Amino acid sequence: MTNNGGAVNPFETAQRQVDICAKYLKLDAGVTEILKHPKRELTVNFPVRMDNGSYRVFTGYRVQYNMARGPCKGGIRYHPQVTLDEVRALAAWMTWKCAVVSLPYGGAKGGVICDPKSMSRNELERMTRRFASEIAPIIGPEIDVPAPDVYTDSQTMAWIMDTYSMQKGYSVPGVVTGKPLSIGGSEGRGEATGRGCMYVIREAAKDLNIKMKGASFAVQGFGNAGSVAASLVSRELGGKIIAVSDSKGAILKKDGMDVAAVEKFKQEKGSVVGFPGSQKISNQELLALDCDVLIPAALENQITKENAKDVKAKIVAEAANGPTTPEADEVLYANKTTVLPDVLANAGGVTVSYFEWVQDLQGYFWDVNDVNSRLERVMSGSYRGVADVAKKHGVNNRTAAYIVAVGRVVEAMRVRGIYP
Ligand code: NAD
Repeated sequence: MTNNGGAVNPFETAQRQVDICAKYLKLDAGVTEILKHPKRELTVNFPVRMDNGSYRVFTGYRVQYNMARGPCKGGIRYHPQVTLDEVRALAAWMTWKCAVVSLPYGGAKGGVICDPKSMSRNELERMTRRFASEIAPIIGPEIDVPAPDVYTDSQTMAWIMDTYSMQKGYSVPGVVTGKPLSIGGSEGRGEATGRGCMYVIREAAKDLNIKMKGASFAVQGFGNAGSVAASLVSRELGGKIIAVSDSKGAILKKDGMDVAAVEKFKQEKGSVVGFPGSQKISNQELLALDCDVLIPAALENQITKENAKDVKAKIVAEAANGPTTPEADEVLYANKTTVLPDVLANAGGVTVSYFEWVQDLQGYFWDVNDVNSRLERVMSGSYRGVADVAKKHGVNNRTAAYIVAVGRVVEAMRVRGIYP
């Protein structure tokens, strides 16, 4: 799930995005410079005892990008290709994402260079606990609150919560989000990203006069974000899912798929490929399908300057982080494709993480209807804010989202002042 093999340095992309919106916000050069640098970076090298008795040294990072609006928030990624620049970029994007949806948070991200698929559960637990212990001085409910990301999950969060709590001598559920329900997780967190994406698509479709009932959807990546989005747009909006994909390939079924049946098929066979009645197509063909909505929900850098001209969808809703390159953005905008940018379209996950943190701090838990109706308010209100700014400045939704987000961070920095 990283793009380090490619030519694009994600942190340079993140810095370029700040420059673009600095122009519209007429930001002072010094303020722009602050926004292009992470506030705090911690690199840790730590030993882990492997199952065969040997010791291995792992490298991990936690980057806290900006804290002007509140404690930092952001996931922890386990992947062989994690780099400091990738973690910096992801931390910057978390800062803007939290600000777009008005959460009282700054942004952070963490990562450990490792190959979790080749490690046993015991090795993963020991690595997670030691990493948690190494970053413990800079995390906490009031400082920085990690969450799951690529190849980390609710179990990883449970180990971090337990490690941190053991050090403190009492339970601190608010130190991480995305926890299991039994230790202070939130109802609705599992499907929050896909659900938030569905609300944003619904609002954009109203503006564009696209009827959702019977509208056609193609979904790249049938994991947590993609499969939930597919299931909800079909169940709650009446949309028709004509294509989905995973790392093994893509499938097309022009008259629409039963998403629950595809989920079951993938669970049993390990892939969506081979789903009865479907036709196998390539990843590039999926991106170029004639459909109303394309949901990239897999990897970074999927829609590029080479293939952007082939995209026929009226709406591209970025459930994934960074699926569209800046050059592709320009092509899509010129072709009048409405892009719902990642910092808005997949912010449902961090929004319900915020709800989880609030519930943990209060020690009072909400039911799923409460969570979903609050999420709906946040997502539709945030879409409206971004769409209005896009219209006002004559810019695409991504630039508009950055104008909104960076503007909020700058305002917090302005009223707080630069210390000392
Ligand atoms: P996941 O691991 O559950 O799912 C990823 C899916 O993408 C898998 O089905 C995988 O097979 C598929 N995939 C991998 N390579 C592919 C390829 N080349 N072509 C097509 N499909 C491919 O991960 P996820 O949590 O759903 O995350 C997906 C994206 O959404 C990431 O960019 C992530 O950062 C972003 N995101 C997720 C959340 C969340 O709460 N899960 C929140 C915000 C953003």
